[in-house]
Amino acid sequence: MPTSPHKKTGFSTRAIHFGYTPAQHQGALVPPIYTSATYAFPDAAYGGRCFAGTEPGYFYTRVGNPTLALLEARLASLEEGAGAVVFGSGMGAVTATLWSMLEQGDEVLADLTLYGCTFAFLNHGLTRFGVTVRHVDMTDPAKVAQAMGPKTRVVYLESPANPNMRLVDIAAVCTIAHAGGARVVVDNTYCTPYLQQPLCLGADVSVHSMTKYLGGHGDLMAGAAIFADAELAQRVRVFGLKDMTGAVMSAQDAHLVMRGLKTLTLRMDRHCQSAQKVAELLQAHAATAVVHFPGLPTFAQHDLAKRQMRQFGGMVAFELKGGLQAGIRFMDALQLVTRAVSLGDAETLAQHPASMTHATYTLEERQAHGISEGLVRLSVGLEDMDDLLADIQQALDQADKA
Ligand SMILES: *Cc1c(COP(=O)(O)O)cnc(C)c1O
Repeated sequence: MPTSPHKKTGFSTRAIHFGYTPAQHQGALVPPIYTSATYAFPDAAYGGRCFAGTEPGYFYTRVGNPTLALLEARLASLEEGAGAVVFGSGMGAVTATLWSMLEQGDEVLADLTLYGCTFAFLNHGLTRFGVTVRHVDMTDPAKVAQAMGPKTRVVYLESPANPNMRLVDIAAVCTIAHAGGARVVVDNTYCTPYLQQPLCLGADVSVHSMTKYLGGHGDLMAGAAIFADAELAQRVRVFGLKDMTGAVMSAQDAHLVMRGLKTLTLRMDRHCQSAQKVAELLQAHAATAVVHFPGLPTFAQHDLAKRQMRQFGGMVAFELKGGLQAGIRFMDALQLVTRAVSLGDAETLAQHPASMTHATYTLEERQAHGISEGLVRLSVGLEDMDDLLADIQQALDQADKA
């Protein structure tokens, strides 16, 4: 892994400089992109040592690549990890990590609310290979303590969780999980390493979809896992990534993520500031029944949010009093805000699960997943605040007209 003279500098400085010295690369300000899939060996014995794992050099990009290694070093630094591995998507990170940590007979304890594809991987993927998956409401750490069993190897959670923004007390859950001999994996996509640092709160692994805020421009797919334990990072690389998933990230995309990282703190500050204003507008409007945003003093876990997050994030969810039809009217009235899934882009994105992602579910199924008919999720972007507030205001007015 690249070493760096920038170890002790601040977060933004490391996001821009960590692990790279232009003087070692012909003065190039921007790190070169190594597109090579394979690497030449000076002699046969060197190749043998690479494959035996005793030679640290690069030999094949599915196992390691200088451009990916720089991004990995930067991410490990930003999230205070001992190592990091990058992947071709967030799901690549989730699956490679869990394939490496679990075996037949083991149990995963997962929160109730999870990203849909993670839920599917756990319940329709891992369960086919002899792993047991149980779900428990992790907003109450006492329930995690009750649910821990002798086979529980991994405790898995997201905070804030989609779609209702509920938080989990990461430090409390880590203490309980470790006492029971399990390791904790936190999906930190919503926060990025800038807003929340799960490893500093005791977690063993932090996973990210870098497709979202870390890339930041909606033009790539990528994932990352950051580890407190370098040995586990190595196992995920040489087994989970190399053999089980092959979810390799391209060097060009690593370059784009590093470009995104340079403005991460600026973008996140703006996302957070605008999301707070949007949440306040939503809360003041007669069309909304409830607004889910950790930065609102009325948010049930506002104190926990202040304790474990640097700021409150750029994601806002709210429920319209008028249910399904109000949700559709709101969505169709939007002119600046874009109707789309995903999050973390410069563009503000709106998604109405009942008419979009969960339209094929029955009403009962949506209720079982905690998705009310009038629930709308916003990924607040970087547009001018006045333009954003005006568009949301007029769409709320439309939603309110029965
Ligand atoms: C998008 C997302 C993922 C999956 O990431 P991809 O890059 O789409 O594979 C996982 N977790 C969360 C919270 C996400 O938002």
